[in-house]
Amino acid sequence: MIPFESTEQFAKKMDNTDPLANYRNQFHIPIQKNGEEHIYLCGNSLGLQPKTTRSYIEQELLDWEKFGVEGHFHARTPWMPYHEFLTQAMANVVGAKPIEVVVMNTLTVNLHLMMVSFYRPTSERFKILIESDAFPSDRYAVASQISFHGYDPAEALLELKPRTGEELIRHEDIEALLEKEGSQIALVMIGGVNYYTGQLFNLKEITTLAHQQDCLVGFDLAHAAGNIELQLHDSNIDFAVWCSYKYLNSGPGSLGGCFVHERHAHDFSLHRFAGWWGHNKTTRFGMRDAFDPIPGAEGWQLSNPPILSLAAMRASLDIFNQVGMKKLNEKTKKLTGYLEFLLDEVANEKIKIITPRDKTQRGCQLSIQVKDADKSLFDCITEKGVIADWREPDVIRVAPVPLYNSFKDVWSFAKILEGVIALG
Ligand SMILES: *Cc1c(COP(=O)(O)O)cnc(C)c1O
Repeated sequence: MIPFESTEQFAKKMDNTDPLANYRNQFHIPIQKNGEEHIYLCGNSLGLQPKTTRSYIEQELLDWEKFGVEGHFHARTPWMPYHEFLTQAMANVVGAKPIEVVVMNTLTVNLHLMMVSFYRPTSERFKILIESDAFPSDRYAVASQISFHGYDPAEALLELKPRTGEELIRHEDIEALLEKEGSQIALVMIGGVNYYTGQLFNLKEITTLAHQQDCLVGFDLAHAAGNIELQLHDSNIDFAVWCSYKYLNSGPGSLGGCFVHERHAHDFSLHRFAGWWGHNKTTRFGMRDAFDPIPGAEGWQLSNPPILSLAAMRASLDIFNQVGMKKLNEKTKKLTGYLEFLLDEVANEKIKIITPRDKTQRGCQLSIQVKDADKSLFDCITEKGVIADWREPDVIRVAPVPLYNSFKDVWSFAKILEGVIALG
């Protein structure tokens, strides 16, 4: 890799030689009041809209107009099996087999459905291990499942904490906790990439350790899907859930994804909440038969899915499939590495990157702690055209997304931040 330089010319040179640079043109970049493009670094919160999304959705509106209910069979992309047209592409993004993946519902709904099957507490083994700064929705979901089964979250919710004075969780501390408490833990449920610090956990190692203690393992991949080059099948986790409106660019509130490892695909003894879309496709409309689940992740579906959202997701997944996670990951190493380099150059006694420095322990997001800052600093950079994310008390989260962010974006952000910090 060529050494980074802090000049604007260098950023432009990087863009000129970036093999993925043209993908930016496939996205709508939000425009500022002054007519210039925003420096959009918030793809970890809501991914940008592919220019093709509109036509994918319009196709479904047209087919509905033209066919009414017959669109289920006669639409250009028939609605009956529509979700199946996304499965291979989704499986490629997360490194899974098609039987292990389904696009359905939304993240928190899927997390509950997975816990119905994979959190089966007993009086000896009833605890769930999560990160201490887990995303609030995950914590509510996990705590409510614990209560639902008649246990007390105060006792059953085990938290993985960073050491005092540290922000990141050390692998050896996960190891020690599993060693100590493993026999009481029913489920390990961690964010694959922590939403706050951007720390990426080693899915495979954690799963191996947890399985040695007979715990089941699920990951919330909201900040990992479309960001990290995942190998879910090989990681051997039991289940995973994610959303598609962050790195997967499927639009606000769009559908979630769900992974169930192949070894559970034919285990019909697993408890589950059922609905007709999870039932055997050949007898689904008989409406009389006892529930006969489809093998694999599809068997957890409940309802017939929202086609307009699936269409938006298909538009996005088609792009992911063209480029592939491998190339995106290569660009992330450079683009986020460049941001790290620039931040280290500017006022580095004032800012601290809390995200791991090790590229194998992060995706594209960097979380930047600004000493003595309050939200007015963030408001200043927003004023100057940056769209990023502020977390109280003093952290700015930025995610240069390899599909549509440029080296110039990263350079401009670093300059703006430097200027605002210098003003004090
Ligand atoms: C974004 C996010 C969610 C959001 O859940 P929804 O059900 O899609 O609203 C949940 N958990 C994590 C870790 C997230 O990052």
